[in-house]
Amino acid sequence: MGKIAVYLESDLNNNTLSDVSYELITKARQLKISAKEIDCENNDFEVVGIVLCKNIDMDSVRKAFLAGLDYFVHIKDESLDTFSQNVFSLSFMEYFSSNPCEIILFPATPYGRILAPRITTMLDVGLVADCTGLELIKKNENIMLAATRPTFGSELMATILSKKNPQCATVRPKTFVADFTLGSDDISNRFFEYNLKYPINETRVKLLRSFFEKEKNDVDFDNSKIILAAGYGLYMGKNPEYFDKLKKLADKINAKFGASRKVVDLNLVSKEYQIGQTGSTVSPDLYITFGISGAVQHVVGMKNSKKIIAINSDEKAEIFKYADYKIVADAKKIIDELLGYF
Ligand SMILES: Cc1cc2nc3c(=O)[nH]c(=O)nc-3n(C[C@H](O)[C@H](O)[C@H](O)COP(=O)(O)OP(=O)(O)OC[C@H]3O[C@@H](n4cnc5c(N)ncnc54)[C@H](O)[C@@H]3O)c2cc1C
Repeated sequence: MGKIAVYLESDLNNNTLSDVSYELITKARQLKISAKEIDCENNDFEVVGIVLCKNIDMDSVRKAFLAGLDYFVHIKDESLDTFSQNVFSLSFMEYFSSNPCEIILFPATPYGRILAPRITTMLDVGLVADCTGLELIKKNENIMLAATRPTFGSELMATILSKKNPQCATVRPKTFVADFTLGSDDISNRFFEYNLKYPINETRVKLLRSFFEKEKNDVDFDNSKIILAAGYGLYMGKNPEYFDKLKKLADKINAKFGASRKVVDLNLVSKEYQIGQTGSTVSPDLYITFGISGAVQHVVGMKNSKKIIAINSDEKAEIFKYADYKIVADAKKIIDELLGYF
């Protein structure tokens, strides 16, 4: 029996798990299901979630089981009250040294991006960062993690196999979708507490005051149902007015405004609105593009939207390959018409 471990990220202020934790659990569960279909020995995996913190909220634990966990391991200690990279990575290593696994998925969040390279360096294994796709394949009678990510300035998508176990990958939030129908919330005999035997008391970073939550600004794509995304096509007449018009339309219909990097790089729209590989990853119910061509770096940030409507004047635009509804038209005219309507 193999193991797929998911590094679960908890909010150290309120002890809940972050959304990306559930997304990774669901992906790990889907990998487990797909392994069963591969004709190979040892094609049976358990999905184990590992969290490091002083306390954990039990509703989050139940949700983690619903998203597809087989086992939940809470690595516990007073020293895990606040985040410290050496304390967290060495604590993970203490647990892992007696509980190895074949695959580890980490969230590509600020903390995950600090920990994953440290842990994989200590394990002397590779790490595939910012993956946009994960699947299991058969190679030399073994099941391997095939991790896909953009490469060569994002001109190509590369699928990377790691030579040694554990095969490790980081995944950005919203890359996958959490599914709370995959498991059961029965926690009996599936929730374990692991008390650190050798807590790390020496920390190189000291918390001098306290943690406080980052202020949420207007450009918070979390939980947004509709996003209207502006592309360079709105600037073809070199007049920036349509970016403001699209923002106005978004306000009227209670949607969020987003943009491609090209219009951000031209200073037509500020950076926090950027969606894509080097911007935010989003998965709203509805994503509407206005004059966006569909470059892969944009698409990786929005392809998990539940429905996509693309408006582009070029009927051969790449974005139409990803759209549920395709509108070949002048996006500016559509904005004017919708503003007149709402
Ligand atoms: C390392 C790297 C990271 C990147 N990260 C990102 C990222 O995070 N996000 C991102 O978006 N990009 C990113 N890019 C840039 C990306 O490659 C594209 O250049 C960018 O997405 C293109 O933006 P666009 O679609 O708005 O513009 P264009 O590619 O110029 O497309 C404009 C589209 O508008 C259409 N059009 C023209 N006039 C009209 C009209 N009147 N009505 C309707 N349609 C019209 C055209 O047919 C065209 O398809 C990255 C690139 C690199 C190398």
